[in-house]
Amino acid sequence: MSLLNEILTHNEQFVENQEYRNFQTDKFPDKKLVVLSCMDTRLVELLPKALNFKNGDVKVIKNAGAVIAHPFGSIVRSLVVAVYELGAEEILVVGHHDCGMSGMDPDRTISSMKQRGITEETLSTLEHAGIDLHKWLEGFKNVSETVAHSVSVIQNHPLIAKDIPVHGLVIDPATGKLDVVVDGYK
Ligand SMILES: [Zn+2]
Repeated sequence: MSLLNEILTHNEQFVENQEYRNFQTDKFPDKKLVVLSCMDTRLVELLPKALNFKNGDVKVIKNAGAVIAHPFGSIVRSLVVAVYELGAEEILVVGHHDCGMSGMDPDRTISSMKQRGITEETLSTLEHAGIDLHKWLEGFKNVSETVAHSVSVIQNHPLIAKDIPVHGLVIDPATGKLDVVVDGYK
């Protein structure tokens, strides 16, 4: 059975057995919090459990590395929506140790692309269009510094209200232990 079929078969049962009843809530975060974190597989269940979030408590935005690559990209837009449309009153950035984005090697990624059929010509076209793929695919060296930087980008963003506390944390993906990088109340 393909993965998609497995998902659809499970889903039919899930809905039929009304298992959704355990998760019913609305779109407004009860804890008035929006969380930016990493897409890491180890955090899927660990992050909410370790921070005591259940369905309905928080808005969650995830990407590779919990990084804000662009001050007017989709991450900041999501924060803006969470704050002004959905009632979030605090922002939490949660990076993690052993992040895939901390060992990124743009050359390796580009070489994998080539092996999968992305042509030199395509890469050259992008380069000539002013797109710096190496910079785009670059990760980070230090997770605490990256979290602190993201917090600073949010705090200083012209569209984020100044009275919103922005916190920065780093989580251990093995134990769930949190370290505070930025306490947004200070
Ligand atoms: Zn990560």
